[in-house]
Amino acid sequence: MEYRLEQVNDQIYVLAIWDTEWNTYTNAYIIEEEAGLTVVDSCKEGHLMFLQHALNKIGKTADDVKLMLVTHGHEDHVGGETLFTKARKVIHADETPPPGSSISGELLDKGTIGDYDFTTVGYHSPGSVVFFHRPSRTLFTGDFLCFFGDPLSEDGLVSKGDDLRRAWMEYLQGGGVSDLPVFLNGLRIMKDYDADVLCTGHGGVLVGEIDVFLQELIAIGEKNQ
Ligand SMILES: [Zn+2]
Ligand SMILES: [Zn+2]
Repeated sequence: MEYRLEQVNDQIYVLAIWDTEWNTYTNAYIIEEEAGLTVVDSCKEGHLMFLQHALNKIGKTADDVKLMLVTHGHEDHVGGETLFTKARKVIHADETPPPGSSISGELLDKGTIGDYDFTTVGYHSPGSVVFFHRPSRTLFTGDFLCFFGDPLSEDGLVSKGDDLRRAWMEYLQGGGVSDLPVFLNGLRIMKDYDADVLCTGHGGVLVGEIDVFLQELIAIGEKNQ
């Protein structure tokens, strides 16, 4: 198994683990803040050692993590939660955290936690949430919009990722999305954040012209309706 750790911007690191079982990159994010570290999602339980290794690489440990934001309750997003015993951990009330976990299903449809705004998009799973980190204008989308099973962009893990954008537009054009009205609604919510960076649950991190990309997807979706 291989993993990559790269800096997205001054505050944010992406950890992309190659999951040999599911044949996909699965991502977690580490954000350095004054109050301590925040993680967004945590990969699978079997990936704990990579999370630990990545934290050590940036001079931190799991105990430095004070907040864990979970986009949705699938095992490849909540599996690492046991590592973060000093963190407040939150997920939407409509999601099912793993049995015995200390993740609190306290998020409602829209709100703010520290430097993050969130809105429920409810596509992919009932309480799936996108988080927006205001200081860096970074949007964390979970699996609402992601690159599950895709190779990384030829321009790198953190890049504009034109090839990934094109592939997503073709996928949508080909009718790849099942519940189009809900998906379109989520795209409009994301576009309203006017983000500079798109951090998804799997694979490439997109930087720059995010509003253009989202508008292109919205236009394709509206045409397909
Ligand atoms: Zn998922
Ligand atoms: Zn996933």
